[in-house]
Amino acid sequence: MTGLTLQELEEFAESIGEKKFRGRQLFSWIYERKATGFGDMTDLAKRLREKLDTVAALGCLQQAGRTLSDESNTVKYLFHLQDDHSIESVLMREPGRRTCCLSTQVGCAFKCSFCATGAMGFHRDLTAGEIVDQVLFIEREAGVDLTNVVLMGMGEPLQNYDAVIKACTLLNHPDGPAIAGRHIVLSTVGIVPAIYRFADEGHPFRLAISLHAPTDEKRKALLPIGRKYPLAELMKAVRYYAQKARQHPTFEYVLLAGVNDSEQDAENLVRLLKGLPCKINLIPYNAAIEKFFAPDAQAVDRFVQRLRALHAPVSVRWSKGADIAAACGQLAIRRT
Ligand code: SF4
Repeated sequence: MTGLTLQELEEFAESIGEKKFRGRQLFSWIYERKATGFGDMTDLAKRLREKLDTVAALGCLQQAGRTLSDESNTVKYLFHLQDDHSIESVLMREPGRRTCCLSTQVGCAFKCSFCATGAMGFHRDLTAGEIVDQVLFIEREAGVDLTNVVLMGMGEPLQNYDAVIKACTLLNHPDGPAIAGRHIVLSTVGIVPAIYRFADEGHPFRLAISLHAPTDEKRKALLPIGRKYPLAELMKAVRYYAQKARQHPTFEYVLLAGVNDSEQDAENLVRLLKGLPCKINLIPYNAAIEKFFAPDAQAVDRFVQRLRALHAPVSVRWSKGADIAAACGQLAIRRT
């Protein structure tokens, strides 16, 4: 039942011969009180709890692993789904901020050359329930209320658009986990029609663009989607989103030594983003694919200095959890 909206739960209650208000009780138990089973729902009559046990099920995930980083307050979870697939999610704790990085697909079809998930290939989309359940499970297991959610784990969120938007809407619901819309970030590799759709639908969630290269030539070499949507088209869509949503979009840029980290690359990036109020996250690469490496700290610093001309906030995210393969671009299920 995880993944059903309030209206769907009310319809479900009526479909099994119960009053509509039972749907609201179920909603509260699932999303706010994070029940693990119908037996927890003590304000429902025993008769109804037993009936629910025979006609429905709660939760879609089974924990299959949990790895704690030595370097940071980061935990990676491995979950088995109800078929034979598995996904990973990551909890990062910082002072005043508890963030979960969620998966939206099993594997990914986009095959970005530096990404471990892309190397797995695409297996299937997650349901809204499987996306939301990552949050409910981790909040329960770790005893935390999440403040932030980033959809930048396994998969491309905008390729699984309907389930992702439904999941984000549930996570944002005031009677559920109530995570602020501005703290729910969808990270996209740049599916242009979906960016226009997202902008037109007026969601409260934020968009981050995985840019990773400042020219078409370099982007096409790193991200096959660059062949379908050249930078001019992508930037036009991002500017449309920025204007329509009145947001300063975030650009993610993985720094790969000797590939996209030169001073010329930084100057090209300045040229590409000039005039667009935005934020830039630079992510020195986390070893996931052998042929790529992170630049050293001096090279990162030189890159940052060159971006000063943009007068935009630039942050360097030395990713958390690299020692447990939980950092950006490292999530992948290793089958033996
Ligand atoms: S970086 Fe994102 S879009 Fe690219 S292959 Fe990895 S998961 Fe897919």
